[in-house]
Amino acid sequence: MNKNKRLIILKKFEQYYLNPTIKLKYKTYFELLISIILSAKSSDAQVNKVTKKLFLYVHKPSDILDLGYDQLKVIIQSVGLFNKKALAIIKTCRILKNIYNEDIPMNKDKLLLLPGVGRKTANLFLNIVLKKNFIAVDTHVFRVSNRTNFVNGISSYHVENKLYQCVPIKFQSRLHSWFGSHGRYFCRSLSPKCSICIIKIWCEYPYKIIK
Ligand code: SF4
Repeated sequence: MNKNKRLIILKKFEQYYLNPTIKLKYKTYFELLISIILSAKSSDAQVNKVTKKLFLYVHKPSDILDLGYDQLKVIIQSVGLFNKKALAIIKTCRILKNIYNEDIPMNKDKLLLLPGVGRKTANLFLNIVLKKNFIAVDTHVFRVSNRTNFVNGISSYHVENKLYQCVPIKFQSRLHSWFGSHGRYFCRSLSPKCSICIIKIWCEYPYKIIK
């Protein structure tokens, strides 16, 4: 896709998705980090159901350690990969308690050293907290980027790097939210709504069906 088309699409998103919001419900940065870790391979709605209960009991890393692995697993069992996530959360909370005095480091390299925190989680967390140009590539951003030919990449890491190169800095902090919303409401995984899509004219998906 050429530069002009990308710019038109970004401006369309800017006009249409006026108030970028995150669907995960949280009150503190700790709750936000735990919610994002839980959201891998799970819907935000499902995570919100689980955290509604979890955050009644836990407010800081040591609360999770007090809860323990077995009890944590029971509470989060309705999200995907709950065994793995429970273990990662316990390990991360141990580090947050022992090294960061129950706080969360606001630094990407340090976040990436926490179990369960990959590039998407670190970028999304920092994007929301610092409101800076961190681009988190989740399943929606990956699909919309590749399907529209906005940028192509075989992995989320490739897509992330290309987005940093191709998207003007002033749009980068809002990109995750825009592409996420577009992937949920129009460019869905199965049966995308091409006929009513706001960027159908510029999208380069060869199989788009526009009536
Ligand atoms: S036209 Fe279809 S494939 Fe292209 S972005 Fe819109 S919904 Fe997705």
